Amino acid sequence: MTPPPARISRLVACAPSGRLVETGPEDSPRILLEAAEYESLRSQAQAEYSFKLECGIDLQALDFTHGGAGLADKLPRRTDGEAELPPLPEGFRYVAVRGTLAGLLEEEREAAVRACHLVQWRRRTRFCPHCSAALRESRTETAMECPSCGLVEYPRISPAVIVLIEHKGRIALARNASFTNGMHSCIAGFVESGESFEQTAAREAMEEIGLDIADIKYFGSQPWPFPDSMMVAFRAQARNGDLKPDGKEIVEAGWFGPDNLPPIPRRGSIARAMVDQWLSERGFRTE
Ligand SMILES: [Zn+2]
Repeated sequence: MTPPPARISRLVACAPSGRLVETGPEDSPRILLEAAEYESLRSQAQAEYSFKLECGIDLQALDFTHGGAGLADKLPRRTDGEAELPPLPEGFRYVAVRGTLAGLLEEEREAAVRACHLVQWRRRTRFCPHCSAALRESRTETAMECPSCGLVEYPRISPAVIVLIEHKGRIALARNASFTNGMHSCIAGFVESGESFEQTAAREAMEEIGLDIADIKYFGSQPWPFPDSMMVAFRAQARNGDLKPDGKEIVEAGWFGPDNLPPIPRRGSIARAMVDQWLSERGFRTE
């Protein structure tokens, strides 16, 4: 059987600043570029990457970020990156990928997430971690390989667990020390070596807010390429209601219901999807 023809997605993904380039009218912008539009931006690019993905998508991405991988690694995590990006020709605009994900069509969102992840991975994956030789692109798969010792480096994906915890008709939401705008979200953390996702959820709930949880049920997952996380979401019940924020990562935590919700993550995040589903089960919806 002949495989279906590859679908080509062309876009500009500026890692690590988290910027995409959009075009079209401001009220219906698009980030997937026509071949001629892509061509017109090519001369500005610091790097160009082409990824033939197993799912049949042929992803072509330009990166405008100056400075190569060395600078990229030194940039602060949340830089807006404006300073390092060149001015764009008329009709094109930079947009922040985090803020724009929720408004994208599914095909665009997938391409944006893949491009952000893969462009950052390529910028940072240049030398063999075993023998230090310069890596080269694999001809057969999305990977870098070492011509000297044969090691193959695949794009790294780091699983993290996020859990919405309920108790007596309320949900536990917590403010991370890095949230400056009062935002509260679900408990989350990276999976440690040898842990199941359920064990991570239980450990993080205990470490961060002192809750013993049970009845841990899978909710869904979301690739979060900043830089390479895979968020795996669960809902769980707390065995008791005593919240003890750890005071380091979590500075505030509380039990909330439809009548007293704090600022919560924006639409497009899996944390928000869990809160929205919990509310809709009670006949409420968020703005
Ligand atoms: Zn090597």
